[in-house]
Amino acid sequence: MKQDELLIGTMLDGKVRWVLARTTDTVEEARRRHGMSTVATAALGRLMTGTLILASSLKGTESITLRLLGDGPLEGVVAVGNARGEVRGYVREPLVDLPLKASGKLDVGAAVGLGELSVSRSLQNGEVFTGTVPMVSGEVAEDLVHYLLTSEQIPSAMLLGVLVEKDYHVAGAGGLLIQPLPGATEEDIQAIENLLGHLKIGISELIAQNQILEELLGLLMGQLSYRVLERRKVTFCCTCSKERLGDTLVSIGKKEIADLISDGNAEMICHFCNEHYQFNAEELQQILERA
Ligand SMILES: [Zn+2]
Repeated sequence: MKQDELLIGTMLDGKVRWVLARTTDTVEEARRRHGMSTVATAALGRLMTGTLILASSLKGTESITLRLLGDGPLEGVVAVGNARGEVRGYVREPLVDLPLKASGKLDVGAAVGLGELSVSRSLQNGEVFTGTVPMVSGEVAEDLVHYLLTSEQIPSAMLLGVLVEKDYHVAGAGGLLIQPLPGATEEDIQAIENLLGHLKIGISELIAQNQILEELLGLLMGQLSYRVLERRKVTFCCTCSKERLGDTLVSIGKKEIADLISDGNAEMICHFCNEHYQFNAEELQQILERA
């Protein structure tokens, strides 16, 4: 069945771990919700896909938040993912558009800019661990690989891609992570490099042409031995609700809430999914009483 999902497995007799994700519909949902430009869709789509891939090692209610705080015109890209394959995210400036690079590709690096990448893991006991590294290029995959190597000492290869059609819809999105495990040999590393070096088109084009992940996996691995250990469904899913945004309103201050009541109503918008919530005078009055 054609649906967004994530496959987790091993290759080369269990000496190498890989994660392959199809996020086409998830990124399209984010694009539609936020009304994003093409380059904004590519930047957020890559980060959401990378977030889901990193979240594939989480358990239970753990979650992970990735923030690209670059100096480019997008002014920041944020994504949050969890162990259930749910992801949400936004860019600060969704309408930013830039000319294509000379190669004809979207200039995600220029749109994101350079700055810091921070990765926060929220554990089941409520503890949060944050690692921050300087960004390498703003192209996202390179930045995440740099983070994994310098902050978690895990050498990795990662591909992330989003293919946006001329009519703005997302034709293919996804990613591939390959990590040699401690027992991997020089030959295994060489086999991984050969696999990646022989790809003639980007991961987004590969997914656009092979939307069923098992088929794509077979194509990618070629003669190499591999096993699928786990599969997870992937969706765009936000945790917001009218109650939660009402709680935020409680904290803005009594005078501000009273001003909203005299306006007659208020609208709260969730950054992560762009859902609009309306509060009428009666509901605002109840919020004022809680403040
Ligand atoms: Zn939301």
